[in-house]
Amino acid sequence: MKRKSPPPPLFQRGESESSLPASLKRGNSTPTRHRLSKAGASAKLRALDKEFVWHPFTQMREWETMENVIIESGEGSYLIDTDGRRYLDGTASLWTNVHGHRKKEIDAAIKAQMDRISHTTLLGLGNVPSIELAGRLATVTPAGLTKVFYSDDGSTAVEIALKLAFQYHEQTRKANRKRRFVAFTGAYHGDTFGSMSVGEIDIFVKKYRPLLFKAFRAPYPYCYRCPLDKEPKDCAMACLYSFEAILKKNHREIAACIIEPLLAGAAGMITSPKGFLKEVRSLTLKYDVLLIADEVATGFGRTGSLFACEQENVSPDIICLAKGLSAGYLPLAATITTRKIYEAFLGEYTEYKSFFHGHTYTGNPLGCAAAIANLKLFEKGRVIERLQPKIKLFAGLLERFKDLPAVGDIRHIGMAAGIELVSDRATKKPFAPAMRIGHRVCMEARKRGLIIRPLGDTVVIMPPLSIKVAELKKMTGIIYKCIEQVTEN
Ligand SMILES: *Cc1c(COP(=O)(O)O)cnc(C)c1O
Repeated sequence: MKRKSPPPPLFQRGESESSLPASLKRGNSTPTRHRLSKAGASAKLRALDKEFVWHPFTQMREWETMENVIIESGEGSYLIDTDGRRYLDGTASLWTNVHGHRKKEIDAAIKAQMDRISHTTLLGLGNVPSIELAGRLATVTPAGLTKVFYSDDGSTAVEIALKLAFQYHEQTRKANRKRRFVAFTGAYHGDTFGSMSVGEIDIFVKKYRPLLFKAFRAPYPYCYRCPLDKEPKDCAMACLYSFEAILKKNHREIAACIIEPLLAGAAGMITSPKGFLKEVRSLTLKYDVLLIADEVATGFGRTGSLFACEQENVSPDIICLAKGLSAGYLPLAATITTRKIYEAFLGEYTEYKSFFHGHTYTGNPLGCAAAIANLKLFEKGRVIERLQPKIKLFAGLLERFKDLPAVGDIRHIGMAAGIELVSDRATKKPFAPAMRIGHRVCMEARKRGLIIRPLGDTVVIMPPLSIKVAELKKMTGIIYKCIEQVTEN
């Protein structure tokens, strides 16, 4: 085993910020004479990052050998690294960013809240922004969802939804308890044990299977590679028959169904056909199974409506929100449910029907202040309405990709798209995983000033909703060139 000697520390124990290179200090405007030291400081940060930071979803051996980019600031649709290079943010900072970076109104809302208080617990106390936000969320989410339970990220929002659904049935039935869940093929609901149990992306969860609970699995309509080997023209959404068969046989055991409405994101930007969600909803009602809508990725305008459920007029029993909730500013999540479910948790203290769950930062005032500012911007800026022409333009820009022979499928909804690359279009044969085609396209994009992340060989485009038309054109133009270059060589 090779052992690299550690890089020199940026500053030694006992040193203060004053001993940092001038260019690393806050508010430094990097005049010419500091250029060199800025480059030096940047190199040091890159080395320290490799030495100390373990990155998520990352093969660190590869990371240690690659040119790592360290982001220092942002502005609108751009990220700016420690060398001053600018990149279009094609992942909306992992599907979170809504109105762009350093949005004046959100910055101000957080600063104003900071001047009052940054954190206080919701365990035994209320706090001001968490109340206003809950009221606003109850108003804007699908009908019936009025009870807001806060947490910190998508995984915990899902974890809470699963626990609520389970406990609801435990406390409302004497016998025939419903203790299992039905989820969809290829689903992604987070990285904690409960959310992994309902998830099905093998490379993420397979190793943990022995520790996970078993869920029923219904086929998600991945029409390009139909799980039932049908052709879209004559399938009549056959997936739904499989789903109904599971419910028919097992509904007495099933507490809830969890679905990513309209768009299964991490599965590879799989868009579901119109009417699928609506039908899933009717079947869950028919068989007395709760519906959990995981709108962690789809919420807050991503699919072209504030929530994906709206497009099929669906009100789930529980909705999970995170990513876009704070507009991509702070870790904040919410699980929102109905009064009916809430009431199953009411009782005398010693009946122990309470929902014994809560995270330290639950309902964090700064996060809530950011989320309130986010919702105000949606309202005032008529964001959803004004997004519609941009979504049309996006669809048009994606059409062009059909000219590239390696493009097998183009999936698009709202401001999200996935371009699935294949080695043979006729047979839909994927590239060998070792070729890492998706990864190479994204690395090429980086050289051209665009940050994107693939899902396998699906190139994902998820810009901030606020992306300007010219920026969107530039983004798709870069991706087109990168796919062309990587797949045609
Ligand atoms: C990202 C995501 C999650 C997990 O959210 P984290 O904040 O990463 O824990 C859950 N569900 C869906 C649909 C997601 O896209």
